[in-house]
Amino acid sequence: MHDIIVVGGGIIAGSAVYNLLEKGYKGKILVLERNNALAQESTSLCAGGMRNIWSTEVNMKMTCYSIDHFKNFKKNFGVSIGFEQNGYLFTYYENNWHNIVDFKPKWDQAGVNVELIPPENIKHFVPDFKPGIKHLKDEILKTLPVSPIVGGLFGKDCAIFNATTPAQTYFIFSKERYSSQIDIKLNKEVEKIIFGNGEVKGVVVRGGEEILSDKVLLTAGAWSRQLLDNSNVPEDLSIPVVPIKRVLYVIFPPKNNNDYSKVPLTIIDDGVYFRPEGDNLVAGRADNKQGPGFDTKPSKSYYENLMNLYLQVRIPGSEYCRIQNMWGGLYAINTEDHNALIGEHPDFKNLFICTGFSGHGAMEAPAAGLSIAEIIESGEVRTIPEVKQLNVQRIRNKELIKETIVI
Ligand SMILES: Cc1cc2nc3c(=O)[nH]c(=O)nc-3n(C[C@H](O)[C@H](O)[C@H](O)COP(=O)(O)OP(=O)(O)OC[C@H]3O[C@@H](n4cnc5c(N)ncnc54)[C@H](O)[C@@H]3O)c2cc1C
Repeated sequence: MHDIIVVGGGIIAGSAVYNLLEKGYKGKILVLERNNALAQESTSLCAGGMRNIWSTEVNMKMTCYSIDHFKNFKKNFGVSIGFEQNGYLFTYYENNWHNIVDFKPKWDQAGVNVELIPPENIKHFVPDFKPGIKHLKDEILKTLPVSPIVGGLFGKDCAIFNATTPAQTYFIFSKERYSSQIDIKLNKEVEKIIFGNGEVKGVVVRGGEEILSDKVLLTAGAWSRQLLDNSNVPEDLSIPVVPIKRVLYVIFPPKNNNDYSKVPLTIIDDGVYFRPEGDNLVAGRADNKQGPGFDTKPSKSYYENLMNLYLQVRIPGSEYCRIQNMWGGLYAINTEDHNALIGEHPDFKNLFICTGFSGHGAMEAPAAGLSIAEIIESGEVRTIPEVKQLNVQRIRNKELIKETIVI
């Protein structure tokens, strides 16, 4: 009999398990991952962006904690995670810029290091950057809804990293240090969670085997809701988390004799973003027309028609930014407020939930894992008290914590 079953082996599960054990948890942990290796889904498919620039205090606190944790990862775990602190640079049109200027005191107050950048200085961060639109030909202006960029917001503590490495390291470290307490089983898909008298009794895995346990931690990312559906959790008691495809493109850098290998993760027109990947770039853009589903097929024309043209507007030589590689993965989107659900389910005792990160789970994993471990151990969030706001009950109570700065 296990004390807790952890469903899924991504970065959130890894961080939760590591934090539980490091905080002195004495129970036996069983991790069940349906794939034949750990952290092969959203965690390994993500862009690895890490920022503390948010509209909600809880996300600022969680990411400030997590950035610090990842910055010291190599020192503490002896493993490089490709952490590069080149910052994040958001760029704005006139219609949104005043919101940013007005919001700046809140970031200052929260200790989030941000700087407002005049348009002519953006080129110091992204070489040859053209904030205006006068250089564009009429046919481009007719087809693309672009306006001049009037300012940039630079967060110098923001970074990029390779999320797969810390995810796997959390499990390896836990296994090495606490071998008698943790068991990790691959190729084990949880088909349903067993409930009785309103509390968790265990799980059933593919093939029909029942595994009993006092508690279950649901960290199945974009598949979390599906598992609750399979477990006959009624819709009104379930979680508003849906899988939505997001695609990334590895592209050649602009051909203009500049070096883009140290540029910040930069967000330009219409949400197109890019960041360095060695000498190349990784680029993405959330497709707001994309509906829920498990399809992850990437489209070349999406990049060519809706992303590359914006790059051409801002950086000369971007017509050479052709695709080298592309892949799709899933965001676990919380459709109510675009924030994670972290806590015990209000109707099912000992069902702990840590999912719905809506595209920011990799960067929040250290804080999320710590917080859910504290909840499992003591019933409350201790280190980052704001995380309490992300409890599961808030959806039903309509105490939503709406995050507006989502990419
Ligand atoms: C294209 C893209 C770009 C992104 N960019 C960023 C970014 O820049 N920064 C950022 O912070 N986040 C980003 N994200 C989001 C980030 O990847 C996720 O928030 C994070 O990885 C969530 O981790 P997880 O452990 O919850 O999910 P996952 O890594 O998906 O792990 C869930 C695990 O559960 C397993 N599983 C599912 N169902 C079952 C079952 N029934 N039984 C057993 N195992 C099961 C899966 O196989 C998987 O291994 C991005 C995501 C995508 C797709």
